[in-house]
Formats: sequence, structure tokens, C-alpha cells
Amino acid sequence: MEWLSKFSARYFSNRSYEKGVRYYRRGLVRLINGTDRSVTASVQGGARYSVFLDAEGNSLNVRCSCPWYDDTASVCKHIWAAMMAAEAGGYLSAVSSMSSPVIKTIQPRSHFDDDVLPPPKPGQNDRSEWRQKLALVGSPTTPGNAPDRNAGERQMCYLIDIPRSNVAGNVILRIAVRKRKKNGGWGKVPLYERRVTQSISTSDFTDRRILAMLGGAKEDYGYSSFYYHSDSIPASYRITPELGTILLPEICKTGRCLLQSSPDQEDLPVLTWDEGSPWRLVVEIRRDAPQNRYLLKGTLAREDEKIDVSEPLLAVPDFVIIGDRIGTLQADNAYRWIPMLRQNGPVSVPEKQKYDFVAELFNIGTLPFVDLPLELQPETTKFSARTFLCGHSADRSYGGDYL
Ligand SMILES: [Zn+2]
Repeated sequence: MEWLSKFSARYFSNRSYEKGVRYYRRGLVRLINGTDRSVTASVQGGARYSVFLDAEGNSLNVRCSCPWYDDTASVCKHIWAAMMAAEAGGYLSAVSSMSSPVIKTIQPRSHFDDDVLPPPKPGQNDRSEWRQKLALVGSPTTPGNAPDRNAGERQMCYLIDIPRSNVAGNVILRIAVRKRKKNGGWGKVPLYERRVTQSISTSDFTDRRILAMLGGAKEDYGYSSFYYHSDSIPASYRITPELGTILLPEICKTGRCLLQSSPDQEDLPVLTWDEGSPWRLVVEIRRDAPQNRYLLKGTLAREDEKIDVSEPLLAVPDFVIIGDRIGTLQADNAYRWIPMLRQNGPVSVPEKQKYDFVAELFNIGTLPFVDLPLELQPETTKFSARTFLCGHSADRSYGGDYL
């Protein structure tokens, strides 16, 4: 499937383009592995450079290990040569379904630092059978085999990105690697990297488990039977409630789960897991007699604690961050109430519309736990009213303090 023409000469200078074509035609590109979404290749130029191509969304993310790329972070002849080889080899077919794809350069040295292929040793140019077979199981620098010389000097951190989580309506977790400073402390966490190197984690069993859970099982593309080990992994993840229940307590246990409340924050506090019972969303309706109105406001409650719904740093399915603790949140499937109340504050209802209000409220469908004043409760016995108001909850005895 052809997709190369989508990029035409838009991204490459004449010189890079022509040299790339020449490299490709002279057979200087070796595809190391490839799928319909990503390709790793090595290109023999002044030295042997590794090129990484990765189709994601509407873009082709590229990276080359050559010095020019390192200095300029712009596309080079090796990348063009690798793209030509990838298309000719039938890889990266995902690009052909993109409407107007763009090329994005991955930040130099942000990942696969240790992935530069070694220069060929004397005599290694002969392609004897045993050399080719050994090459199939990797080179001395194959990620995962090489011990990380810098372990102890670098540390993997897990960042909960509050602004992005609030927008996404899920916990957004980012992985970042920070370096040890000369004084022994940890340096600043680099922000907004797209990908991070994975080899940092191989010495820590917990990190490996966490990354395996984040990465999930890989799709079988059926191209080849060899194990594809990419040293770089995406830096940003949306944590679904199902995954978060397992993953977040584990991440907190590392002591390296950090809270990022704003983009320019310097000191990121450590987040801990709240072992207490789940918080629950309660919608409270109270009469405000002096103003001739009723007020509907959201609160989070558990046991003998109660706070306004606007107070937590984050409240998404099924998690809530209060101070420097993250715990679980139950909203009886009525999660749309939480952003509405957090963004708009209490709902004010004129006294004379109170019955219309209650009627419409119960027409909405999915309701959280509603705490109504006596005069607005349906005209049934108090006991059945409470059962009704508890909605779908299994915990029917809950809320005795409110009614
Ligand atoms: Zn290059």
C-alpha cells in the first residue's frame, strides 16, 4: 500500500531527499522489525544510525539517532531512506488510511538513548550464516539485555496530571524519568515528553509490573514470529476505572506517584493511596428561606466525613484526590453530576417552582444519592420514599444521617 507520496517533499530539503533516495537504492537501509504501525530500521551512513517510525493518530512520529537529528530535531536523509524502505516492504500501512498525515519529530534523546547500533566491527561485513543467525537474537545493545549502567542515577516517576485529568474526565497518568543531581537529590521532572525510555525500569520489579499493566497485551500483527521489544513507550495514559482500581494503589506504593496541579509547578508532592472507604456523591437539596428558594448542592461523604464537591483537586470515575491522597469515589453511575456541580456551583430553584423541579429531577434518569427535605419527598411513607431516593444503590441503609 502506497503512502509515501502523502509526505512528498514537504518535509525534506532537496538534499536530504536526494541523499535518502540514494541510500535506499544502494541498499543501505536494513529493516529490523516492522508492523503496520511502526518500523525500526538501521541506516548505514557515516556510521550506522537507527531510525524509528511510528504511526499514531494522524501523524507519523519519527526519530533518527544521527548527530544532525540530535542537533536540529528535524527530519534527515536517514529518515527518508527508512520511509522508502518501509513502504517498499509493505509496512506502516496505517499511514495510508490517514487523510492528511503530518510528520512529527520525537524529541532527540528522549528515548532509546541506549539504542544506537554499534559500528560494524572489522570482518563483520561478510554475511556468513552464523552471523546472520546470531543477528536474529539481537546485538549486544539489544534493550533489555544490556544492564542499565545508569540505574540509581535515574528514577521513574508517575505523575497524575490534574489539569489534563479534569479535561479528560479520567485520571491521566504520565511517566517521566528524573535524574540525580550532583548534591544527591532528584532533579526536576521533565514535562510533556511524548515517549520515555523503558530500560530504566528493568531493575525494578514493581515498575515492570506497572508498565506491563499500562501497556496491556499487544496485538498480534502476524508479520513475524520474533519478539518485538521497543525500548520506548508512550509517556501518557488514560486510566480507566477498571484499570485504576488495580494500578493506582500499586503506583502509590512506590512512593514515586507525584501530583502535578499546574504546568509550571516546581515541587511535586507525593500522592498516597487512601485506604479508607469510598467517598460517595450526595446531592443535597435544602431550603433557603430568607431567599425564597431551594439550593441543590453536591457533597462527597463517607462515614462521618463530608466535604463540598468542589473541594477535591480531582473527582472523576472512580477516583477522588483530596489534598495529597487519592481514594475511590462512588457516584452510582451519575458521574455527569460531578463536573456540572464542580463547574457551576449549587443550583438555585425559586420556591414556587419546587414541585416542577423535583418532578424533573426524577425524570433525568440516572441520579446520585439524593437527599431531599421532608416537604419535597414523594407523597408516600417516609420509608418507601427513602428506598426510592436511594435509586439503584444496593446499600439501602446508607444515608440515614441525611434524611
Ligand atoms: Zn539521521
